[in-house]
Amino acid sequence: MSKHFIKPLAASLLLAFGAAQAATIQIQNRDAVGVGFNDPTPVAPVGGNPGTTLGEQRWNVYRYVADIWEKQLTSDVVITVSAGWEPLTCSASSAVLGSASAWNIWRDFAGAPKANTWYPQALANKISGVNQSEGQPDDGSGYGNVDIKTQFNINLGKPDCLAGSGFYLGLDGNTGGQINFVATLLHELGHGLGFATFTRGNTGALLAGYPSAWDHFLLDNVTGKKWTQMTASERVTSATNGRRLVWTGAEVGAKVPEVLALGTPSAKITAPSSLTRALAIGTAAFGPQITATGLSAEVMPVVDQADGVTGLACDPLSAANKLAVAGKIALVDRGVCSFTVKVKNAQLAGAKAVLVVDNANDNPPPGLGGADNTITIPSARISKVDGLALKDAMKARTRTRSGLYITLGLDMSQYAGADLMGRPYLYTPNPFASGSSVSHYDTSAFPNQLMEPFINADLTTILQSPKDLTFHLLRDIGW
Ligand SMILES: [Zn+2]
Repeated sequence: MSKHFIKPLAASLLLAFGAAQAATIQIQNRDAVGVGFNDPTPVAPVGGNPGTTLGEQRWNVYRYVADIWEKQLTSDVVITVSAGWEPLTCSASSAVLGSASAWNIWRDFAGAPKANTWYPQALANKISGVNQSEGQPDDGSGYGNVDIKTQFNINLGKPDCLAGSGFYLGLDGNTGGQINFVATLLHELGHGLGFATFTRGNTGALLAGYPSAWDHFLLDNVTGKKWTQMTASERVTSATNGRRLVWTGAEVGAKVPEVLALGTPSAKITAPSSLTRALAIGTAAFGPQITATGLSAEVMPVVDQADGVTGLACDPLSAANKLAVAGKIALVDRGVCSFTVKVKNAQLAGAKAVLVVDNANDNPPPGLGGADNTITIPSARISKVDGLALKDAMKARTRTRSGLYITLGLDMSQYAGADLMGRPYLYTPNPFASGSSVSHYDTSAFPNQLMEPFINADLTTILQSPKDLTFHLLRDIGW
């Protein structure tokens, strides 16, 4: 065959091949000798990661995760990621795991989907077909022109830094209670690729006066205003409006029915009729899920004899409390001991379900964390305000009856984590959570999504339908 015929054939083969691995991610190690990726500490291979030093295993996870993103994305421009291991904020009981962000952002480049709007560099490069940093002076750091800068906590798992809970560096998800570094990094690179706003949610200030690509898709589903149409103070309010801020992108909207489960867990007061309404709840990570079948029962509070007001249920329930909650939904207060201890004590007293009243003004209520596979009754968190209202409604109760009935079930008019129109909620806790608010899906999404603010144990490495909405959102902003 002559060259003349081979050339076009080769070109078409390259195009077909390009669809299978459609972007290239280059990781730049910025760690010093003997540190981070260069740590020579010998380790045993773990969960499909064949590395034999700590540094090598860390690098293998980066490469593994970069490969997953490479297969998902398309871009003719190499995506560069600066990666390092650093001491980040931590204490014995909490820690910053790591962070990542687009290191350079651009607006009004060739082909920009929206004018006067910030785009992360990796996306601006993909759309324009040229590296926007090319020819720009580096700041001398050696990484000043990269697309994404990442850093992870080098001390995680040490005694003074979330003791015992280090990163799991295996590739198989069998974390044994450690923190899944594959899922964590997959999530963080998602931020760097564009899963974030550059607008400040706590002040409402646009970056240098321009909105982010992200902001064009944020809608308050009550006022009907987009973030790009709001004043700074309206954005501040919107950033803490629980389950009102939704993503309007068409790609995500089309995939919601394939990804999110139909039916959102809910609690409804069914009696007395004067109080009938729905309560926002946060679901538990332990015990049985709340099902469509539902569970209806009278509510009774657990009351501590000490002050007669709070019912913490941190100890086995007294005879009077047992009499009150047996066969009922037990209302207990958050605090002092773990959620699983409270729910287990109520279960042992014969309660059918537990509602934990928050002691902070978080609205909507977050989920209940913890693990205990001996718990067999459902539980959920309700807000402090709703808890006070329920206690008020039960003031005139007898020792065994309150007359207040609640049904725990699924609201089948909504997908879990989306509004009535099928638009996913963004994470907008009150108070504002710096670094988390607005730039994540809401924690009510089910099945759990990679881009929720917490790394849940049931995540996979699949970035698109039918498992996950991450890639579809990136498509909406231009990927
Ligand atoms: Zn995040």
